Amino acid sequence: MGINNNFKFECVHCGHCCTDLNTLVNTTYIDVLRIKNGLNLTIDEVLEILGFYVFDQAPSEKEIDRMVVPPIQTERGMAFTGLKKRLNGKCFFYDEAKERCSIYSFRPGFCRTFPFTFTIQKGKDKKTSEINIFYTDKGIQYCRGISEEYPTINLEQWIKLGRKVIQDLSKNNQLIKKWNNSVKNKQIIPSARNFIMTIFNLE
Ligand code: SF4
Ligand code: SF4
Repeated sequence: MGINNNFKFECVHCGHCCTDLNTLVNTTYIDVLRIKNGLNLTIDEVLEILGFYVFDQAPSEKEIDRMVVPPIQTERGMAFTGLKKRLNGKCFFYDEAKERCSIYSFRPGFCRTFPFTFTIQKGKDKKTSEINIFYTDKGIQYCRGISEEYPTINLEQWIKLGRKVIQDLSKNNQLIKKWNNSVKNKQIIPSARNFIMTIFNLE
C-alpha cells in the first residue's frame, strides 16, 4: 500500500458529517441506485431526495477535469448531484431523534469513506496500482472520531473500501461524460428527470 498506517479514528457518532451546514454529500449514479433499490423509490421519489446543485458560474473544461465528481448538464445549467438537505442544513436522511443515519446500509460512498479520501497511483510496471489514504479537510475540521485516543484503523479494510469507491467514481464519471456529450450533440434533453430515467435504465 506504500503508506504509513498512522490513522487513529473511530466513529463516535457525533453527527457532524451529517449535519454540517457546508457539507454536501455528492452522489454517484451507483449511490442513487443503491438508495433507490434499498428504499424502493420511484423516479419522482428520487427527485425528492436528490439535489441538482447548479453552479453560479459554469466551470471550465479544465476545472471539470479536476473535479472528483464532475457536474452534469441539466435544464438549469451545469449541476452536481448530491443528497438534499433539510432547511436546517441537516442531511435529508439524518434521523434527528435517534441522531443516526436512517439509510445506513444504503448510504453513499462519501459517507462510507468519511473522514478519509483516497487517491490511486499507478505502479512503476503500469499494471498494478496503489491506493493512498488521507484525512479530508472537513474530517480534520470537525470529525470528533479523529483522535490519538482512538485505535489505529484497519488499513487493509479501508484501502479495500477506497478501491471500490474509486472504481464507482470512475464508472460514474464515464456516465457523466457520455451524458454531457449527448447533450452537446443534441441527442438528449438535459433534464434532471431524464437523467434519473437513464440511471434507472442501466439496471
Ligand atoms: S446519508 Fe446518512 S451518513 Fe450520509 S450524510 Fe446523510 S445521514 Fe449522514
Ligand atoms: S464526523 Fe466523524 S465521528 Fe462524527 S459521525 Fe461523522 S465520521 Fe463519525
